[in-house]
Amino acid sequence: MATSAVVGALACQVDSYLRNFETTVVQCRQVVTPTPSKAGKKSAVQTTPSDVAQECYEVELKDTILFPEGGGQPSDHGVISTPDEQFPVLAIRRELLTALHKVSKPIEPNTPVKLEVNWKRRFDHMQQHSGQHLISAILDQMQVPTLAWNLGEKVSYVELPRKLTDEEVLAAEDRCNDIIRQGIDIWVEVPDKDLVNKDKLPEDYDAERGILRVVHIGSLDANPCCGTHLKNTREIGSIALLHQLPIRGANSRLHFLIGDRVRAYARDSNYLTRALNSRLSCQTEEIEAKIGRLESQLRDSLKREKLWMADVVKAESARVKEDLKLEKKAYVYRGDLVGLDYFNSLVAQIGNLEPNSGVVLLASGAGKNGGALLVIGEGADKVASKIREEGIIKGLKGGGKGAKWQGKITQWEKGEAESLKAFFDRLEC
Ligand SMILES: [Zn+2]
Repeated sequence: MATSAVVGALACQVDSYLRNFETTVVQCRQVVTPTPSKAGKKSAVQTTPSDVAQECYEVELKDTILFPEGGGQPSDHGVISTPDEQFPVLAIRRELLTALHKVSKPIEPNTPVKLEVNWKRRFDHMQQHSGQHLISAILDQMQVPTLAWNLGEKVSYVELPRKLTDEEVLAAEDRCNDIIRQGIDIWVEVPDKDLVNKDKLPEDYDAERGILRVVHIGSLDANPCCGTHLKNTREIGSIALLHQLPIRGANSRLHFLIGDRVRAYARDSNYLTRALNSRLSCQTEEIEAKIGRLESQLRDSLKREKLWMADVVKAESARVKEDLKLEKKAYVYRGDLVGLDYFNSLVAQIGNLEPNSGVVLLASGAGKNGGALLVIGEGADKVASKIREEGIIKGLKGGGKGAKWQGKITQWEKGEAESLKAFFDRLEC
C-alpha cells in the first residue's frame, strides 16, 4: 500500500521555499461540504445522494508543497495539474497525520501530478507567521506571554494577559525591527521527542508517529511549530505594532502588520488621509481639530432643531385642534420627513382626543424614500381600512385598532399624495 509523507515532514515544511513540485496521487475520496445553513461550520463529511450538488474530492498525495491549515497559519492556495487537466486547490486540511487537498474533480490513484503554490499568499503567511514568532519572543523577554494569535486577512493580533502601555508597545516594536535588521537566521530543528514541549500540540496529532519540529530564531527563541517560516529575520521586512483591544476580562489583543502588509497599510492610510484632506479642506495635522469643530456644530444644530421643532409642533397642533373643532377632521402632510418622530411629538402635544371629536390623518415622506401614515381619533382603523380598500397608497403596510392606526409606506407613487388629500377632503366624520 502506498504511503504519504506525514504532516510535520511535508515538503513544504522541510523546504518552505519550494514553489513547484512533482508527486503522485495516493488516494482520492468524494466528500461533501455541508452548506452553513444546514450544518453550521462542521468540516467535510461523507457524501449523501441528496448532497451531490456540493460534491468535491479530497486528494492524498505522496508528498506536498501545499501547507495544510495549522499552528495558526491558514491553508495555502495552489494549483494541481494532472497530465490532462488543472484544478485549483483552495483548501488543504490535516486529518491526523495526513494532508488532504480539496479539489472539484476526482483524480485516480497513482496519477502523476504537478503542484504549484500561490507564492504571494504563502510568502505573506511566512512573513506574518515568522514575524509573530519574533513579536512573541520579544514580549516574552518583557514577561508578557502570548496566549493566542490570529493571522487576519489584513491585520493580525496576539492575545496577551494584559494591556501594554504605549511605551511598552513602542519599545517592543523598536526591538523587533532591530532584530529584523540584524539578519538573524531562522531554522528548524527536529530534536529528540522527549525534549519537545507537547502542550500546544493538537489533541489529534499522533506525537509517536509524527514529527515534532522546533523553530529557532538564532539563540533568541525556540518554539515547537508546524508552520512555514522564513530563513532569516531580514525577510520579515518590517513590523508595525498597532492598536490594542480588550478581550476576556483583562486580556488585550495587540494588533500588528508585518512585511509587505506594512506598505499596503501605509498606501491605504495615505489614500484615506488624502480623501479626508479633500473632504474637510484641511491639512492632515488639522483633521482632528476640524472634526471636533464639525461635531460641535452638529451638536448645536441638533439643539436648535429641537427648539424649532417644539415651536412648529405647538403651532401645528393648534391648527389641528382648530380644524377638528370646525370640521371634525384634520390633515397633516410632511413631505420632508420620513419617520414618525415628528408625528409622535405632534400627537403628544394634541393630547387625548375626546370621543366624537373627529379624526386626524398624518402622512410623511415622498417618492422612493417612502414614509409613514398615522391616523388617530375615533374610528381611525376604519379610515385606514378605507384608504387600503381604495388602493390609495399601494406601498402602505401597518395596523392598529380603534382610535390609533399607524403604518409604513415603502414608496410613494406618483399622484398618491394628491389622492390621499382628495380622500381626506371627501371624508365625512
Ligand atoms: Zn511557526
